Amino acid sequence: MDYSALAAEAKTYLPFMQSNRQKFHQIAEVGLHLPLTQAAVLESIEGLGEIKLGKGLSSVTLLIRGAKPGPTVLIRADMDALPVIEDSGEPFASTNGAMHACGHDLHMSIGIGAAHLVHTHRDKLAGNVLFWFQPGEEGNGGADVMLAEGSHLVEGVKPIAAYGVHVFSMYQSGIFGTKKGALMASAGEIKVTIKGAGGHGSMPWLSNDPISVMAQMIASIQPAINRELKQLDPTIVNVCWVKAGNDVTSNVTPAEASFGATIRTFSDEHFDKVRMVLSRLLNGIADAFGVEVELVIDNGMGHATKVLYNDDDAVDRVARVAPQVLGAGRYITLPEGTPGGEDFASVLKEIPGAFVFIGACPPELDPTTAPNNHSEKVRFDDTVMPDASALLASLAFDTLNEAARA
Ligand SMILES: [Zn+2]
Ligand SMILES: [Zn+2]
Repeated sequence: MDYSALAAEAKTYLPFMQSNRQKFHQIAEVGLHLPLTQAAVLESIEGLGEIKLGKGLSSVTLLIRGAKPGPTVLIRADMDALPVIEDSGEPFASTNGAMHACGHDLHMSIGIGAAHLVHTHRDKLAGNVLFWFQPGEEGNGGADVMLAEGSHLVEGVKPIAAYGVHVFSMYQSGIFGTKKGALMASAGEIKVTIKGAGGHGSMPWLSNDPISVMAQMIASIQPAINRELKQLDPTIVNVCWVKAGNDVTSNVTPAEASFGATIRTFSDEHFDKVRMVLSRLLNGIADAFGVEVELVIDNGMGHATKVLYNDDDAVDRVARVAPQVLGAGRYITLPEGTPGGEDFASVLKEIPGAFVFIGACPPELDPTTAPNNHSEKVRFDDTVMPDASALLASLAFDTLNEAARA
C-alpha cells in the first residue's frame, strides 16, 4: 500500500479536522463523563462502522471491518480536558472553565481522520480496525475502565497491536518520534497525614508536634530513595504540597500535619519498591516520634498509571512506516523517555504496540519557551493532524497486511 498517497489524501481532510478540533475545544469536558464530547464524536463518525458506547464512562468504540477477515488493530484517541481556565487567546478558546490544554481535542480529530481513511480503503483491509475514543485520561484511569468493560475485545479476541499519539507544544511542529521500551513514567502519588496532639506553642513537651515529624519525613525521603533504588533507573518522589497549622498565630501547635508527593518510576520493579520503601520509612519515623501516621498511596484505589512500555517490533514498524508517510527527516528516535504519565500504558500492557509523540508547537513560537501542555496559555499547531491520521491508518494497514501474509 502506498502510504504517501494516504498522507496526501489525509491533507484534504484538514478543514474537516480543524473544524472538529475547534468544536471539541469549545465544549471541553473533564473526567469520565463527557456527554457533549461523546455526541460530537458520534456525529463525526456516523456510518463508518459498528459503534459501542461505554457503561461506566462516555467512551465510544468504532469497529471498521475490512473486506477480508483477519485480526484487529486498536487505535486510541483520548477525549478529556483539564479543569483549567483557558487564556490561550485562540479565537475558539473554551469559556466553560475546562480546557483542552493537553491537546486531546487534536487526538480525537486525528482518530476521526484515521477512521475516515480506513473506512475509505476498507477494501484493502484484511482484518479490523478498532478505534477507541477514551475519556478520563487525566488521572481518572479511563483506559482501565474501558479494558475492564472489555472494550478492546472483538468477538472475545484481543487486538494484535495498539497505537496512539500525543501532541506536545515543546517539540518542533511536524516532528514525530518515539523510542523502544519505557517511554513514559508511572505517575502515582502518596498523601501523608501525621496525627499528633495540639497544644500551647510555648510548651511543646505537653503536646505532640506533628510539624517537626513532617519535616523529618520530607528530609528523609530523598536519602532513602538514593540509597535503596538504583540510580540508573530514575525514580522521582517530589513533595508538592504541605499543610499544617494556621498562619494567623505562631503559638499554637496543631494536632495534624499533612503533605503529598508525586511518585514517578520508569520500571515495574521500582513501582513496587519505591512504595515499599516510602511506607517503611514514613511508618518508621512516625513510630520513632510517637505519632500516628496515615498513608494513602495512589488514591487508595491503585490509581497510578503504569509505566508505558513500547513494544520493540511495533517501534520498528513505526520507524519504517513513518518516513513513508511523512517524508524524510521528520521521524526521530527519541533519546529518552519523559516523566509524564499516560494511561495508554494500561492498553500497552495488554496489547503490544507503540505510542508516538508529535511536535505541535505553533510555528511562530519557540518550542523551548512556548507554553507547555497543561498551561492555560498552551496553543498547538493543528496542521499536524492529517499526517498523524495518515500515520495511524498506515500502521493499521501495515500491521494487518503483514499478518495476512504470514
Ligand atoms: Zn495531560
Ligand atoms: Zn494528554
